[in-house]
Amino acid sequence: MQTLTTNPPQARYRKLDFAGLSTVSLEGEHFLRVSSELLRQLTEEAFADVSHLLRTSHLAQLRAILEDPDASDNDRYVALELLKNAVISAEREFPSCQDTGTAIVAGKKGQNVLVSGDARAAVEQGIARTWSKRNLRFSQMAPLDMFTEQNTGTNLPAQIDIEAVSGDTMELLFMAKGGGSANKTFLFQETRRLLEPERLRAFFDEKIRTLGTTACPPYHLAFVIGGLSAEHCLKTVKMASARMLDDLPTSGSPDGRAFRDLDAEEMILALTRDLGLGAQFGGKYFCHDVRVIRLPRHGGSLPVGMGVSCSADRQIRARIDREGAWLEELERDPARFLPEGEFASAAAVHIDLDQPMGAICAALSDIPVSSPVLLSGTMIVARDLVHAELARRIADGKQLPDYVLNHPVYYAGPAKTPEGHASGSFGPTTATRMDPYVADLQARGASRVMIAKGNRSRQVIDSCKANGGFYLGSVGGAAAVLGRDVIKQIEVIDFPEFGMEAVHRIRVENFPAFVIIDDKGGDFFTRRP
Ligand code: SF4
Repeated sequence: MQTLTTNPPQARYRKLDFAGLSTVSLEGEHFLRVSSELLRQLTEEAFADVSHLLRTSHLAQLRAILEDPDASDNDRYVALELLKNAVISAEREFPSCQDTGTAIVAGKKGQNVLVSGDARAAVEQGIARTWSKRNLRFSQMAPLDMFTEQNTGTNLPAQIDIEAVSGDTMELLFMAKGGGSANKTFLFQETRRLLEPERLRAFFDEKIRTLGTTACPPYHLAFVIGGLSAEHCLKTVKMASARMLDDLPTSGSPDGRAFRDLDAEEMILALTRDLGLGAQFGGKYFCHDVRVIRLPRHGGSLPVGMGVSCSADRQIRARIDREGAWLEELERDPARFLPEGEFASAAAVHIDLDQPMGAICAALSDIPVSSPVLLSGTMIVARDLVHAELARRIADGKQLPDYVLNHPVYYAGPAKTPEGHASGSFGPTTATRMDPYVADLQARGASRVMIAKGNRSRQVIDSCKANGGFYLGSVGGAAAVLGRDVIKQIEVIDFPEFGMEAVHRIRVENFPAFVIIDDKGGDFFTRRP
């Protein structure tokens, strides 16, 4: 049964100039010897490439949005920002996203491949080097006890799954999976009853509505129906969303082979076009494409998996064989996908953030939901840890700091700052995690204007209506543009011990955002069909 295809023929590879390969014969059998240093170098190079570069096919899909007359203005706006982001990121200073992800390595090692030393340690060293040498963000939290955690400072541990197969080649897939994107992986334990056309269609329709935009669409969406276990199903989801299973057959067989259901893919893509969410702020491009994989199953269970690859579509294949070490060629010239000359997109209203909070809110109050704005002036950056502290202050009857009263709050955490720049990649984080704090803060005049990504709860919509507040959506996945061109100044002003979660004061120029929730109870997400 074929479920993991890490080397489809259409991938282009470049040969790496690394030493450390030799062949030996033992009792008439040929073996490929791979030095652990080669494996370390290959891993370091793979994660460096994937942190800055995207696949050519992904960029072509973004360009196609610009050329589609049926795309909305907001679809085109997001696609253009993501293309500009790819151009900046390809210069290899700013990573494409501030969440540089969990390192995941999956692969197949032929039994006639002999790795000198500890293969796992070599892969881990390659990961640690990439994250320490480049302007990436450490995201892995080590639990010290059930309730206390600490950043490991290396981005390790990594998820490394390499299976043994026959042969004398080694094939690897390196992925850098962001938290928001990983959070959109779901398992549904269904029954045979689901396997009827209308019921299955209704199921897909229901589930795609739960995805929302917090993982920064347009998505590469994958569904897997069946699997010999829950983990088999979900592993296949991950591979399908990375388009690693594109060469599967398109029909089943009596021995239970996996296959792609192209009709279901087309049907789900049409459903996503009709959702109305589009590429984050309204339109048809919620998804670039859809993969549907059908797997065999135990007669008494039907696992169904759903997952996405986000706008930081970071995966890269590698191969080690007798000819050398090879790495998938990602696009080094994304600028060729940018439109020539000026590109007309929705007109944005300029908002001065350096006026009193009442005046900022009055200016926003005139702008319809889902309209674009360009923000210039001072913002405060605060996220999970700071909000927990503010809640403690409220519970203790203490004053809130002036900065949450006087400035809009941006939920974010930066990657490292490249030398000579004001900021590192600095895109928005998922807003919903801050939802439980909003009503208490706004009732005290704080957090009246919030900026982040994704939808909010009813509680936040009601609080904005009651307290004259606003929530603005920033383009998720365009962190390098914000870090290099939009954020002009950055300083830590409170809780320095929280690291990237400290309170930062930033000055921005023409920070692009969309009105998502206004002060009249309007909400972009709940007014969708
Ligand atoms: S593009 Fe969005 S979902 Fe993907 S890693 Fe970045 S912040 Fe997370």
